[in-house]
Amino acid sequence: MRIRLAVIAVLLLGLSACARAPMPAAPPMVAVPQILDPDSVCLQDLATLGVDFQPMASFGDSEQGCGISNAVKVSGAGVPWNRAGVLTCAMARTLVRYQTEVVQPVAQSRFGQPVKRLHHAGTYDCRVRRNNSTKVAASLGGSRGGRLSEHSKGQAIDVTAFELADGTMVSVKKDWRGGADKAAFLHDVARASCSTFNVVLTPNHDRFHQDHLHLDIGPHTLCGY
Ligand SMILES: [Zn+2]
Repeated sequence: MRIRLAVIAVLLLGLSACARAPMPAAPPMVAVPQILDPDSVCLQDLATLGVDFQPMASFGDSEQGCGISNAVKVSGAGVPWNRAGVLTCAMARTLVRYQTEVVQPVAQSRFGQPVKRLHHAGTYDCRVRRNNSTKVAASLGGSRGGRLSEHSKGQAIDVTAFELADGTMVSVKKDWRGGADKAAFLHDVARASCSTFNVVLTPNHDRFHQDHLHLDIGPHTLCGY
């Protein structure tokens, strides 16, 4: 009997010891930061906005300092383009806003019809400032040194003309200095572009921009209207 009581006492002590045994420490609660990939968010935006685009692998030329880490090949943003262009996703997204908030309202106001196609002479291009993408710029010899253009980072486009729904062409080269609705449209668009882009260069700015509107979202600010 004494032995049985001793066994029971030992068992109770054991159970008591088990009850008091420290629980294994729970892993500390670590707040995992939610990583939002700006590229994927932007690409999703392009898809939502109906941009005609293809994602591209990042590319660059470290020696020249050119390249794009989140490139897209765009065939139309808001409206089809005369040809595809390579840009950063952010620039493509800005161009949709430009088309819907700047170009189309001005076209409706001036012509009572929308623009159906945007014509441009260049997007990504590994070159220095004062481009030679257009005939006017090339005839002037293009660039001579200087810092890299925003074209070299896919942050710029050279718009040459707007094609209206009825097929009418409104050309920067032919119509900027005219006196009719076409000139008024181009000037309205150029002026309004300064609220969408960081740099806007027009035929008013210098001789290198007689046939196109240079629009970019680079770090500098200049409304060359
Ligand atoms: Zn340009």
